[in-house]
Amino acid sequence: MPKSETPILYIVIPCYNEEEVLPVTAPLFRQKLLDLRAAGKVAETSRVLFVNDGSRDRTWEIISGLAASQPEYEGVCLSRNRGHQNALLAGLMDCRTRCDITISIDCDGQDDINAMDAMVDAYLSGCDVVYGVRSSRETDTAFKRGTAQAFYRLMERMGVETVYNHADYRLMSSRALVALAEFREVNLFLRGMVPLVGFKSTSVYYERHERMAGESHYPLSKMVGLAVDGITSLSIKPIRLVTFFGLAASLVGLIGIIWALATWAMGHTVSGWASMVMVICFFGGVQMLSLGVIGEYVGKTYLETKRRPRYIISERTEEEPERTEEG
Ligand code: UDP
Ligand code: MG
Repeated sequence: MPKSETPILYIVIPCYNEEEVLPVTAPLFRQKLLDLRAAGKVAETSRVLFVNDGSRDRTWEIISGLAASQPEYEGVCLSRNRGHQNALLAGLMDCRTRCDITISIDCDGQDDINAMDAMVDAYLSGCDVVYGVRSSRETDTAFKRGTAQAFYRLMERMGVETVYNHADYRLMSSRALVALAEFREVNLFLRGMVPLVGFKSTSVYYERHERMAGESHYPLSKMVGLAVDGITSLSIKPIRLVTFFGLAASLVGLIGIIWALATWAMGHTVSGWASMVMVICFFGGVQMLSLGVIGEYVGKTYLETKRRPRYIISERTEEEPERTEEG
């Protein structure tokens, strides 16, 4: 598929209770779009698309106002708060048929918008996915930095492929989005899903700034939630760990049996004690092991019910056939 010379760009921005920061950052995003347009890198019809994630404050009024005042702004509103990942996906899926590329970014100004030039350049030179990667985390608190790094390491341990220090600031081409649409999972962890989509990708490095206004919506509880979703929707290693513990427990149980037998043989026991301990030890181990094995199948079924595509075709020598529902 040939790349568009001047692609239609949609900057997709999820917003949740951002009335303080939106009036500050929205003009910056628009200006970036106009600059890219003036440089001849993106098409006239490029837009800034805000997704209001069921905000309780005036965010949606602000977005509506922006859209009424300038043709470059668009907005969609979710029926309720669904969380950052879902809001972002909603925006990407909404515009995927009327754009050539999207760049997703948070609305708080923490991610450097000047990295967008390099992202579009990377697209024009043949990449379908361009990851924005933080070159440093100096502006984050030590706690946020520490927990985030522990998170990336844990993800890696669990076998989930993610791009280190990349959040959701990334460029995706429309065909990468069409492929992403085939991933039907409900528990979203886009950072882990996008690498699975494949296609040619690269990274662009930038400095992370402080939030321009307002507060973070990712307290520790949400970060933990995101980590659990990320792991359980992309890896079944935890279930394997249960099997492993079951095996270990069975071994300990065996030792317990030998010990109980020995104690009995030496005559240090009241009658019935040894047999009871043996039974407890044995069944404790066997039950854990069985749970793990069953869990393994439950995990497999779980991954299957997501009905992910088994492969995604990225190139053809012949014309692409008519798309069907199954893709
Ligand atoms: N966000 C959202 N829904 C939520 C929480 C956050 O759409 O339920 C948006 C938020 O408006 C922002 C982005 O997700 O644009 C990242 O959130 P935030 O800046 O609070 O997180 P942090 O940068 O501190 O990790
Ligand atoms: Mg932020």
